[in-house]
Amino acid sequence: MKASCQCGQLVAVVPGPTMAVVACHCRGCQKRSGSPFGQAAYWPHEDVAIAGEAIQFDRPTDSGGAFSQFFCPRCGTTVYMRGTKNPTLTGVPIGLFDDPHMMQPIRSVWEESRHPWVEIPTAIQHFPRARVD
Ligand SMILES: [Zn+2]
Ligand SMILES: [Zn+2]
Repeated sequence: MKASCQCGQLVAVVPGPTMAVVACHCRGCQKRSGSPFGQAAYWPHEDVAIAGEAIQFDRPTDSGGAFSQFFCPRCGTTVYMRGTKNPTLTGVPIGLFDDPHMMQPIRSVWEESRHPWVEIPTAIQHFPRARVD
């Protein structure tokens, strides 16, 4: 399955759909996406093949770590992301896939800053802030 930025320069290819899809309502994801929430599907690093040039932006997180976002220098689309909280995983926003309807969020986090008109009906786990194990 192929995900790509708006201009097509930066591409991520994964072996298939995953259940690990998270919707995040935190202010950082709202700023990054310009949307009321961000979302991404997560795979182990080795399952995500990246092609193209990316610029990295590290956002400090509440827990003292960093959330790294990799975006296309030409069109600005964030194509993949990695965080110190789940250091073995790479996330790719589901809207970037050629078929964006194959996955849906099972988890909704940072709901304390959720816009009241946004519901994630497919989420089976809800957290007011970051996920707690
Ligand atoms: Zn691009
Ligand atoms: Zn977030």
